[in-house]
Amino acid sequence: MRVDSISLEGFRNYHSLRADFHPGVNLIVGDNAQGKTNLLEAISYLSAARSHRARYDRELIGFDVDAAHIRAAVQSRGRTFDLEVKLARGRRRQLWANGVKLDTAAELSGVVHTVLFCPEDLSLIKEGAAQRRRFLDDCICQLRPRYAAALGEYRRLYEHKTRILRDSQERPDLLDTLEDFSLRMAQTGALLIHYRAHFIRKLLEYAPAVHRAFSGGGEELGLSYHTVSTVTDPLAPTRTLLQQLLDHQKTHRRAELEARQCLSGPHKDDLEVLLSGRSARMFGSQGQTRTAALSLKLAAREIFFHDSGEWPVLLLDDVLSELDQRRQEFVLNAITDGQVFITCCEEEKLQRLRSGKVFHIRGGSLLEWGER
Ligand code: ATP
Ligand code: MG
Repeated sequence: MRVDSISLEGFRNYHSLRADFHPGVNLIVGDNAQGKTNLLEAISYLSAARSHRARYDRELIGFDVDAAHIRAAVQSRGRTFDLEVKLARGRRRQLWANGVKLDTAAELSGVVHTVLFCPEDLSLIKEGAAQRRRFLDDCICQLRPRYAAALGEYRRLYEHKTRILRDSQERPDLLDTLEDFSLRMAQTGALLIHYRAHFIRKLLEYAPAVHRAFSGGGEELGLSYHTVSTVTDPLAPTRTLLQQLLDHQKTHRRAELEARQCLSGPHKDDLEVLLSGRSARMFGSQGQTRTAALSLKLAAREIFFHDSGEWPVLLLDDVLSELDQRRQEFVLNAITDGQVFITCCEEEKLQRLRSGKVFHIRGGSLLEWGER
């Protein structure tokens, strides 16, 4: 998969931009606050109709305009797709592929996949479990539309059940529906665990080798999936998972009523990363955990490839400056399959790129570009 060209109008600080990309490495260079991340954000929006840093689509619309447009020519499954996204204030986003209107983000995910690594991801392993769940969710949502639907449903049920638990002392009648919500949460939760467990099993197939190549040997990367305590084997059939989730709910029913919170379900899941058998979160050095975080994303990229037969577009925002020379070299020149976008501030990094295209961005405009 690759993005051949993009045009942006009214997107963030881009009034009007058109760029033709290289099928290999594209280096986006510019000072701080010029629009490098905004460009990556636009590309990643094409794969999930969602931004990694905006909560609402309206944040993506230029301050002084009423609508934002992204248009892109994308190669996928041996065909060209003209993708179009329109965001307008006070309206729901609109998506098209080859002129046909798309109803869901999942239809867009079916065309192009992206794997994004941003500076916040450097702390993926040290941060709380929510970050790691998000990593899993972002990947699996792109790969499996059914998971995206289940995740949306689970979140709705979770919010609803939380409201019931919170308000039940004032309105005991709300408790009439509690059982039903709990059951539906267990059913949807079993699906989430099923998909997460299978994705993590795949990650385990690729991540150790990727990590060895990227870090230059040494430690072995391992992964451990932590979910609801009654689940004995997350890879078990969903009906087994459902039964075990219901068992957990039963023993936590009183505690939930007292705490007025959902205490049972996979919304607290975690992915533990191990380096040479020890928790990276607890014992890993800064450099080790950063490298491992990037290895996970690169392993996800392999999964996408093996799933669809095509490399997803890799978006690396501002990571070069955080890596040592050897790892910079790996990122710039060792990822030879698939399209890569890399942003950086320092000009000197350009010299190290052996093949690809360099774009200079200033104030939301493309100043110049060069190919090597
Ligand atoms: P850094 O190197 O610091 O990461 P960057 O080049 O990645 O910088 P961006 O995050 O792309 O910078 O942001 C560029 C500019 O876009 C910022 O000055 C920001 O204020 C501006 N900006 C963000 N949202 C909007 C918006 N909706 N409309 C117009 N400008 C915006
Ligand atoms: Mg940036």
